[in-house]
Amino acid sequence: MSYEKTPTAEEGDVTLKVRKCLSCQTPFQSAWSGERVCPKCKTSSSWRAGTPRNSTASRRS
Ligand SMILES: [Zn+2]
Repeated sequence: MSYEKTPTAEEGDVTLKVRKCLSCQTPFQSAWSGERVCPKCKTSSSWRAGTPRNSTASRRS
């Protein structure tokens, strides 16, 4: 018996899942189940008012 496991893309449950962005409805790869907004909209920070995470891109002086 030769049970060989080839290293594929599926490594546990950390597989990237394609989800639809709640903001722009664009399918994107979410790293975890809690991610429902594409990185594009995330950086825009216009999908959710109240979570100023990446406010370095558009800084108003
Ligand atoms: Zn989006």
